[in-house]
Amino acid sequence: MKIVFFSAKAYDREFFESCNEGYGFELEFWETHLGPHIADAVKEGTDAVCVFVNDKLNAEVIEVLAQKGVKIIALRCAGFNNVDLDAAKQYGIRVCRVPAYSPEAVAEHAVAMLLTLNRKTHKAYNRVREQNFSLSGLMGFNLFGKTVGVIGTGKIGAAFCKIMLGFGCKVLAYDPFDNKSLKSAGVKYMPFHEVIKDADVISLHCPLTSENHYLIGAGSLSAMKKGVTLINTSRGGLIHTREVIEALKTGQVAALGIDVYEQEEKLFFKDLSGSIIGDDDIQRLISFPNVLVTGHQAFFTQEALTEIAESTLGTVKAILEGGDIGEGAVLV
Ligand code: NAD
Repeated sequence: MKIVFFSAKAYDREFFESCNEGYGFELEFWETHLGPHIADAVKEGTDAVCVFVNDKLNAEVIEVLAQKGVKIIALRCAGFNNVDLDAAKQYGIRVCRVPAYSPEAVAEHAVAMLLTLNRKTHKAYNRVREQNFSLSGLMGFNLFGKTVGVIGTGKIGAAFCKIMLGFGCKVLAYDPFDNKSLKSAGVKYMPFHEVIKDADVISLHCPLTSENHYLIGAGSLSAMKKGVTLINTSRGGLIHTREVIEALKTGQVAALGIDVYEQEEKLFFKDLSGSIIGDDDIQRLISFPNVLVTGHQAFFTQEALTEIAESTLGTVKAILEGGDIGEGAVLV
């Protein structure tokens, strides 16, 4: 049974090869993204392709994979907005993902971004290295007592809510489905517009769908409290980049932390330090002193990578050979 990995990095190889000792699949690691440019290079005899957040599996790619005899598309991530599920169904290809892997990894990164932006530890680090011990410009605010709005209270959002409750924040949430245990822990569910109107900090933890594309744009930004801190560790397409740039210029958004970015597939997971970047929006974002961009690293902990490898190979085996499949792992 052969699995070809796309967008594979050294750490993917390390964690999957170690986990594969218990499975015995034939693994092949390709550095390139999967997309229309390369789909035809997949060889017959490939049972599964294993892909990540920025691989593009549209109908054209899926048709080619089906012709090659690929039976499974295994996403080694939770989000699946980059796969045309209808096309996969049409061509009889199963699609699976990792529904849950250390949600705390992502939630903790969202908190790290919030604390960095608020307490300006990134600036303090550089300042002190230059023997500048001045505090000017480093003032933050107490999170204790502040109102935090959480959009999406699935596994990651729930972990984030619990951390914020631990900080002594008032936590408001919007999700089409209430989580009873969060409610009894003190989280108050409200309609989306009520949450964003009252929150000092807003963190996005919902998946990107066709309905919530640009959930955060000029309209919702102007409905927020002036000086809001906005954190997005979910998907770049939830935020209209140019409109959030305008909101940063007016101070409507006081600080922005993003681990995901609309056009990230051209940038993230690559060392572009010697390149001229043509994307003016990311350059503008990086130029703000109150914007923190990380390159889709929220998931990147040892625990999460171990769980991703185990869950991915376990689900592929269960699909191919029959067996128990974890809840939410199979999409098609
Ligand atoms: P999940 O499926 O457990 O929870 C998602 C929640 O969002 C659900 O409760 C759902 O009801 C809710 N939801 C759906 N549409 C909504 C909307 N329009 N508004 C508000 N809530 C909505 O997913 P999860 O494991 O918590 O992951 C959340 C997202 O985090 C993923 O979809 C993915 O995009 C992102 N993610 C990012 C990283 C990273 O490294 N940055 C890693 C993993 C996941």
